[in-house]
Amino acid sequence: MIKKQKTAWVPVVYWKAITENDRAFDDQFFYGVQTTGIFCRPSCKSRLPNKENVRIFKNAFIALEQGYRPCKRCKPDGLKLPAEEWSQHIKEWLDTHYTENVTLDILADIFHGSPYHLQRSFKKSTGLSPLSYLQQKRLEKAAQDLLATNRPVADIGESVGFANPSYFITLFKKKAGQTPAQFRKGVNYSEPKRTND
Ligand SMILES: [Zn+2]
Repeated sequence: MIKKQKTAWVPVVYWKAITENDRAFDDQFFYGVQTTGIFCRPSCKSRLPNKENVRIFKNAFIALEQGYRPCKRCKPDGLKLPAEEWSQHIKEWLDTHYTENVTLDILADIFHGSPYHLQRSFKKSTGLSPLSYLQQKRLEKAAQDLLATNRPVADIGESVGFANPSYFITLFKKKAGQTPAQFRKGVNYSEPKRTND
């Protein structure tokens, strides 16, 4: 895991190099993005990160030592992130961002790979496509909330990332074999009656 650090100072020239993908700065420094745990060359064409999440490294070795992984797109220092580890990063990210509007393109952008390659690697190491994993995560969280709270079904669906309540109910029924309301009722069973036999 990446060690959380206080907001670090990013020199103005370095930030400029990052925003302009300036090749002249490649090999002068690398930058890591705290939220994804990936580090890049300044020239990388990946999505521009929030400045406060950026950490500057003098070389790739320091970045690796601090738990950052090389970007698949710009391949700093010719290092490659094993698919397994890459998928693990994506999974951890999905585990905390499942309530957001996530698409394969967004994931590919954040995790610096082609959508096709990302999907294939993720599926190979987890057995699920990223979006199936996301859906499963949302349904699991919804099931927990159905049991732990009295919040309306539509509210719960929305809070885990299903904007459309009827889609949520249909999907839940398809996967769990009962509607969210039935699922919630089903567990409020009374103690089995004792019989004298
Ligand atoms: Zn990169």
